[in-house]
Amino acid sequence: MLLTDKFGRAITDLRISVTDRCNYKCVYCRTGNEGALYGDLPFPDYFRMARILTGLGIRKIRITGGEPLLRKGLIEFIHELGQLRDVDGNALDLALTTNGHLLAEMAQPLKDAGLRRVTVSMDAVDPDRFSRITRVPGGYDKVLAGVRAARRAGLWPLKVNCVLMRGFNEDQIIPFGMFAREEGVILRFIEFMPLEEDRVWAPNTVVTLEEIISRMGEYRPLVEIPHERSETARRYRFDDGIGEIGIIAPVSHPFCGHCSRIRITSDGKIRTCLFSVWDHDLHELMARGSSDEELSNFICDVVQKKEERHHIGEADFVPASRTMVHIGG
Ligand code: SF4
Repeated sequence: MLLTDKFGRAITDLRISVTDRCNYKCVYCRTGNEGALYGDLPFPDYFRMARILTGLGIRKIRITGGEPLLRKGLIEFIHELGQLRDVDGNALDLALTTNGHLLAEMAQPLKDAGLRRVTVSMDAVDPDRFSRITRVPGGYDKVLAGVRAARRAGLWPLKVNCVLMRGFNEDQIIPFGMFAREEGVILRFIEFMPLEEDRVWAPNTVVTLEEIISRMGEYRPLVEIPHERSETARRYRFDDGIGEIGIIAPVSHPFCGHCSRIRITSDGKIRTCLFSVWDHDLHELMARGSSDEELSNFICDVVQKKEERHHIGEADFVPASRTMVHIGG
Protein backbone atom coordinates (compact mmCIF):
# COMPACT_ATOMS: atom_id res chain seq x y z
CA MET A 1 0.00 0.00 0.00
CA LEU A 2 1.52 3.33 -1.08
CA LEU A 3 0.99 6.50 0.95
CA THR A 4 -1.88 8.60 -0.39
CA ASP A 5 -3.85 11.12 1.65
CA LYS A 6 -7.63 11.59 1.65
CA PHE A 7 -7.29 14.28 -1.05
CA GLY A 8 -5.67 11.80 -3.40
CA ARG A 9 -2.16 13.27 -3.05
CA ALA A 10 0.64 10.69 -3.29
CA ILE A 11 3.18 11.22 -0.50
CA THR A 12 6.60 10.59 -2.04
CA ASP A 13 8.82 13.22 -0.34
CA LEU A 14 10.12 12.86 3.21
CA ARG A 15 12.01 15.50 5.15
CA ILE A 16 13.93 14.34 8.18
CA SER A 17 15.21 16.89 10.71
CA VAL A 18 18.24 15.35 12.42
CA THR A 19 18.64 18.18 14.97
CA ASP A 20 16.94 21.40 16.05
CA ARG A 21 20.23 22.91 17.14
CA CYS A 22 21.60 25.63 14.88
CA ASN A 23 24.72 27.79 14.74
CA TYR A 24 22.82 30.74 13.20
CA LYS A 25 19.99 32.93 14.55
CA CYS A 26 18.26 34.07 11.39
CA VAL A 27 15.70 36.81 12.02
CA TYR A 28 12.92 35.01 10.09
CA CYS A 29 13.44 31.81 12.05
CA ARG A 30 14.82 31.80 15.57
CA THR A 31 15.62 34.31 18.25
CA GLY A 32 18.36 32.26 19.84
CA ASN A 33 16.60 32.33 23.21
CA GLU A 34 13.67 30.12 22.33
CA GLY A 35 14.09 27.94 25.39
CA ALA A 36 14.37 24.18 25.44
CA LEU A 37 15.11 22.29 22.27
CA TYR A 38 13.16 19.15 21.35
CA GLY A 39 16.47 17.30 21.00
CA ASP A 40 17.48 14.60 18.52
CA LEU A 41 17.60 10.82 18.17
CA PRO A 42 20.30 8.25 17.43
CA PHE A 43 20.70 7.86 13.66
CA PRO A 44 19.55 4.21 13.67
CA ASP A 45 16.10 5.43 14.75
CA TYR A 46 15.84 7.84 11.78
CA PHE A 47 17.16 5.09 9.52
CA ARG A 48 14.43 2.65 10.62
CA MET A 49 11.79 5.34 10.04
CA ALA A 50 13.24 6.06 6.57
CA ARG A 51 13.39 2.35 5.69
CA ILE A 52 9.74 1.82 6.62
CA LEU A 53 8.60 4.99 4.82
CA THR A 54 10.56 4.04 1.69
CA GLY A 55 8.60 0.81 1.63
CA LEU A 56 5.43 2.92 1.67
CA GLY A 57 6.34 4.91 -1.43
CA ILE A 58 8.85 7.60 -0.39
CA ARG A 59 11.28 8.31 -3.25
CA LYS A 60 13.00 11.51 -2.08
CA ILE A 61 14.53 12.18 1.32
CA ARG A 62 15.75 15.62 2.32
CA ILE A 63 17.88 15.96 5.45
CA THR A 64 17.23 19.17 7.37
CA GLY A 65 17.63 20.70 10.84
CA GLY A 66 18.20 23.19 12.67
CA GLU A 67 21.59 22.81 11.04
CA PRO A 68 22.17 19.15 10.03
CA LEU A 69 25.95 19.53 9.51
CA LEU A 70 26.27 19.99 13.28
CA ARG A 71 25.40 16.29 13.79
CA LYS A 72 28.33 13.90 14.17
CA GLY A 73 27.68 10.68 12.27
CA LEU A 74 25.73 12.42 9.48
CA ILE A 75 28.05 11.13 6.74
CA GLU A 76 27.56 7.51 7.83
CA PHE A 77 23.79 8.03 8.05
CA ILE A 78 23.68 9.36 4.48
CA HIS A 79 25.77 6.41 3.32
CA GLU A 80 23.23 4.03 4.88
CA LEU A 81 20.30 5.87 3.33
CA GLY A 82 22.13 5.48 0.03
CA GLN A 83 21.70 1.70 0.35
CA LEU A 84 17.90 1.95 0.47
CA ARG A 85 15.81 1.44 -2.68
CA ASP A 86 12.35 2.82 -3.47
CA VAL A 87 9.40 0.56 -4.29
CA ASP A 88 10.62 0.30 -7.92
CA GLY A 89 14.13 -0.66 -6.87
CA ASN A 90 15.65 2.75 -7.65
CA ALA A 91 18.15 4.58 -5.45
CA LEU A 92 16.54 7.32 -3.42
CA ASP A 93 16.95 10.99 -4.36
CA LEU A 94 18.97 12.17 -1.33
CA ALA A 95 19.17 15.91 -0.69
CA LEU A 96 20.21 18.14 2.20
CA THR A 97 19.45 21.70 3.30
CA THR A 98 22.17 23.58 5.19
CA ASN A 99 23.14 27.12 6.13
CA GLY A 100 26.49 26.33 4.51
CA HIS A 101 28.68 27.46 7.41
CA LEU A 102 30.35 23.99 7.69
CA LEU A 103 29.88 22.93 4.06
CA ALA A 104 33.34 23.74 2.68
CA GLU A 105 34.90 20.90 4.71
CA MET A 106 31.99 18.46 4.29
CA ALA A 107 30.89 18.81 0.65
CA GLN A 108 33.16 16.08 -0.78
CA PRO A 109 32.55 13.55 2.04
CA LEU A 110 28.77 14.12 1.67
CA LYS A 111 29.00 13.49 -2.06
CA ASP A 112 31.14 10.38 -1.54
CA ALA A 113 28.58 9.09 0.98
CA GLY A 114 25.82 9.22 -1.65
CA LEU A 115 24.26 12.65 -1.29
CA ARG A 116 23.01 13.86 -4.69
CA ARG A 117 22.14 17.48 -4.17
CA VAL A 118 22.35 20.30 -1.65
CA THR A 119 20.44 23.48 -0.93
CA VAL A 120 22.21 26.32 0.88
CA SER A 121 20.09 28.86 2.80
CA MET A 122 21.65 32.26 2.16
CA ASP A 123 19.68 35.49 2.52
CA ALA A 124 22.11 38.14 1.30
CA VAL A 125 25.15 38.44 -0.96
CA ASP A 126 26.39 41.41 1.05
CA PRO A 127 28.58 40.28 4.01
CA ASP A 128 27.27 42.96 6.41
CA ARG A 129 23.66 42.34 5.53
CA PHE A 130 24.31 38.61 5.81
CA SER A 131 25.56 39.06 9.39
CA ARG A 132 22.59 41.29 10.20
CA ILE A 133 20.15 38.60 9.08
CA THR A 134 21.95 35.59 10.58
CA ARG A 135 22.93 37.49 13.71
CA VAL A 136 26.30 35.73 13.55
CA PRO A 137 29.33 37.80 12.47
CA GLY A 138 31.63 36.72 9.63
CA GLY A 139 29.59 33.87 8.14
CA TYR A 140 29.37 35.10 4.55
CA ASP A 141 32.85 34.03 3.43
CA LYS A 142 32.45 30.57 4.99
CA VAL A 143 29.12 30.03 3.23
CA LEU A 144 30.47 31.25 -0.11
CA ALA A 145 33.38 28.80 0.28
CA GLY A 146 30.81 26.08 1.06
CA VAL A 147 28.81 26.84 -2.09
CA ARG A 148 31.95 26.64 -4.22
CA ALA A 149 33.07 23.41 -2.54
CA ALA A 150 29.64 21.85 -3.20
CA ARG A 151 29.92 22.75 -6.88
CA ARG A 152 33.44 21.30 -7.11
CA ALA A 153 32.21 18.10 -5.42
CA GLY A 154 29.49 17.74 -8.06
CA LEU A 155 26.51 18.12 -5.73
CA TRP A 156 23.90 19.04 -8.31
CA PRO A 157 21.47 20.68 -8.73
CA LEU A 158 23.08 23.15 -6.33
CA LYS A 159 20.42 25.52 -5.05
CA VAL A 160 20.66 28.66 -2.96
CA ASN A 161 17.49 29.53 -1.02
CA CYS A 162 16.84 33.14 -0.03
CA VAL A 163 13.90 34.05 2.24
CA LEU A 164 12.83 37.59 1.35
CA MET A 165 11.57 39.84 4.14
CA ARG A 166 10.44 43.37 3.41
CA GLY A 167 12.68 45.85 5.16
CA PHE A 168 15.52 43.32 5.44
CA ASN A 169 16.69 42.09 2.10
CA GLU A 170 14.36 42.86 -0.81
CA ASP A 171 17.17 45.02 -2.25
CA GLN A 172 19.18 41.80 -2.63
CA ILE A 173 17.01 40.50 -5.49
CA ILE A 174 19.14 41.82 -8.37
CA PRO A 175 22.53 41.20 -6.64
CA PHE A 176 21.36 37.61 -6.07
CA GLY A 177 20.49 37.29 -9.77
CA MET A 178 24.03 38.36 -10.63
CA PHE A 179 25.45 36.00 -7.99
CA ALA A 180 23.53 33.02 -9.39
CA ARG A 181 24.85 33.68 -12.89
CA GLU A 182 28.45 34.19 -11.72
CA GLU A 183 28.53 31.22 -9.31
CA GLY A 184 26.52 28.86 -11.53
CA VAL A 185 23.96 28.06 -8.84
CA ILE A 186 20.16 27.78 -9.06
CA LEU A 187 18.57 30.54 -7.02
CA ARG A 188 15.30 30.09 -5.14
CA PHE A 189 13.51 33.04 -3.57
CA ILE A 190 11.05 32.05 -0.82
CA GLU A 191 8.17 34.17 0.39
CA PHE A 192 8.36 34.78 4.14
CA MET A 193 6.02 32.45 6.07
CA PRO A 194 4.65 32.84 9.63
CA LEU A 195 6.89 30.16 11.20
CA GLU A 196 9.35 32.35 13.10
CA GLU A 197 9.88 32.74 16.82
CA ASP A 198 9.62 36.50 16.96
CA ARG A 199 6.10 36.38 15.46
CA VAL A 200 6.97 39.38 13.28
CA TRP A 201 5.17 38.01 10.23
CA ALA A 202 2.46 40.21 8.69
CA PRO A 203 1.08 40.27 5.11
CA ASN A 204 3.09 43.43 4.35
CA THR A 205 6.39 41.69 5.28
CA VAL A 206 5.93 39.34 2.32
CA VAL A 207 7.75 40.17 -0.92
CA THR A 208 5.50 38.47 -3.45
CA LEU A 209 6.25 36.51 -6.63
CA GLU A 210 5.03 39.37 -8.82
CA GLU A 211 7.31 41.86 -7.05
CA ILE A 212 10.34 39.58 -7.42
CA ILE A 213 9.74 39.07 -11.14
CA SER A 214 9.21 42.78 -11.77
CA ARG A 215 12.34 43.72 -9.76
CA MET A 216 14.53 41.07 -11.45
CA GLY A 217 13.12 42.10 -14.84
CA GLU A 218 14.71 45.53 -14.32
CA TYR A 219 18.07 43.69 -14.49
CA ARG A 220 17.35 41.11 -17.23
CA PRO A 221 14.15 39.68 -18.76
CA LEU A 222 13.00 36.31 -17.40
CA VAL A 223 11.47 33.44 -19.37
CA GLU A 224 9.23 30.99 -17.45
CA ILE A 225 10.28 27.31 -17.52
CA PRO A 226 7.49 24.68 -17.42
CA HIS A 227 7.57 22.87 -14.07
CA GLU A 228 6.25 19.63 -12.51
CA ARG A 229 2.95 20.05 -10.62
CA SER A 230 4.46 18.77 -7.38
CA GLU A 231 7.39 21.19 -7.63
CA THR A 232 7.12 23.94 -5.05
CA ALA A 233 8.99 26.52 -7.18
CA ARG A 234 7.93 28.48 -10.25
CA ARG A 235 11.04 28.45 -12.44
CA TYR A 236 12.52 31.10 -14.73
CA ARG A 237 15.58 31.42 -16.93
CA PHE A 238 17.25 34.68 -17.88
CA ASP A 239 16.62 35.58 -21.52
CA ASP A 240 20.24 34.83 -22.51
CA GLY A 241 20.03 31.34 -21.00
CA ILE A 242 22.60 32.04 -18.29
CA GLY A 243 21.27 31.30 -14.84
CA GLU A 244 17.99 29.98 -13.43
CA ILE A 245 15.89 31.37 -10.62
CA GLY A 246 12.84 29.94 -8.92
CA ILE A 247 10.23 31.46 -6.67
CA ILE A 248 8.57 29.46 -3.88
CA ALA A 249 5.41 31.46 -3.20
CA PRO A 250 3.37 29.64 -0.54
CA VAL A 251 1.62 32.88 0.52
CA SER A 252 0.66 34.51 -2.81
CA HIS A 253 0.49 31.30 -4.92
CA PRO A 254 -0.12 28.31 -2.59
CA PHE A 255 0.79 24.89 -4.00
CA CYS A 256 -0.89 22.73 -1.35
CA GLY A 257 -3.08 21.02 -3.96
CA HIS A 258 -0.09 19.00 -5.14
CA CYS A 259 1.73 18.65 -1.82
CA SER A 260 3.67 15.36 -1.69
CA ARG A 261 5.53 15.97 1.61
CA ILE A 262 5.55 14.78 5.16
CA ARG A 263 8.18 15.54 7.79
CA ILE A 264 9.85 13.82 10.71
CA THR A 265 11.02 16.16 13.43
CA SER A 266 14.35 15.80 15.22
CA ASP A 267 12.56 14.14 18.16
CA GLY A 268 10.79 11.60 15.94
CA LYS A 269 7.31 13.10 15.46
CA ILE A 270 5.51 13.05 12.11
CA ARG A 271 4.23 16.42 10.86
CA THR A 272 1.79 16.17 7.98
CA CYS A 273 2.07 19.86 7.08
CA LEU A 274 4.47 22.73 7.84
CA PHE A 275 1.53 24.55 9.45
CA SER A 276 0.15 21.57 11.32
CA VAL A 277 -0.98 22.08 14.90
CA TRP A 278 -0.45 18.35 15.57
CA ASP A 279 2.56 16.11 16.09
CA HIS A 280 2.21 12.33 15.70
CA ASP A 281 4.68 10.47 17.93
CA LEU A 282 6.28 7.75 15.79
CA HIS A 283 9.34 7.50 18.05
CA GLU A 284 7.26 6.75 21.12
CA LEU A 285 5.74 3.74 19.33
CA MET A 286 9.22 2.60 18.32
CA ALA A 287 10.43 2.97 21.91
CA ARG A 288 7.50 0.82 23.02
CA GLY A 289 8.74 -2.00 20.78
CA SER A 290 6.23 -1.75 17.93
CA SER A 291 6.86 -3.93 14.87
CA ASP A 292 7.55 -2.55 11.39
CA GLU A 293 4.02 -3.48 10.40
CA GLU A 294 2.51 -1.63 13.36
CA LEU A 295 4.62 1.43 12.53
CA SER A 296 3.57 1.26 8.86
CA ASN A 297 -0.11 1.14 9.86
CA PHE A 298 0.39 4.10 12.19
CA ILE A 299 2.02 6.12 9.39
CA CYS A 300 -0.79 5.30 6.95
CA ASP A 301 -3.39 6.41 9.53
CA VAL A 302 -1.48 9.63 10.19
CA VAL A 303 -1.28 10.47 6.47
CA GLN A 304 -5.08 10.26 6.35
CA LYS A 305 -5.04 13.22 8.74
CA LYS A 306 -2.89 15.37 6.41
CA GLU A 307 -4.25 18.92 6.15
CA GLU A 308 -5.73 19.97 2.80
CA ARG A 309 -3.88 23.27 2.78
CA HIS A 310 -2.50 26.12 4.91
CA HIS A 311 -4.66 29.11 5.90
CA ILE A 312 -1.99 31.82 5.97
CA GLY A 313 -3.50 35.31 6.06
CA GLU A 314 -7.03 33.97 6.60
CA ALA A 315 -9.23 34.79 9.59
CA ASP A 316 -9.12 31.18 10.79
CA PHE A 317 -5.32 30.89 10.54
CA VAL A 318 -3.84 29.18 13.61
CA PRO A 319 -0.04 29.40 14.00
CA ALA A 320 1.80 26.11 13.61
CA SER A 321 2.52 24.27 16.87
CA ARG A 322 6.24 24.50 16.14
CA THR A 323 8.47 27.14 14.62
CA MET A 324 10.68 26.52 11.59
CA VAL A 325 13.87 25.64 13.47
CA HIS A 326 11.97 22.85 15.25
CA ILE A 327 10.40 21.52 12.04
CA GLY A 328 13.18 21.75 9.52
CA GLY A 329 11.56 23.37 6.48
S1 SF4 B 1 1.55 24.32 3.65
FE1 SF4 B 1 1.27 22.18 4.19
S2 SF4 B 1 -0.08 21.32 2.64
FE2 SF4 B 1 0.69 23.27 1.88
S3 SF4 B 1 2.45 22.73 0.63
FE3 SF4 B 1 3.21 23.21 2.68
S4 SF4 B 1 3.25 21.26 3.78
FE4 SF4 B 1 2.00 20.98 1.95
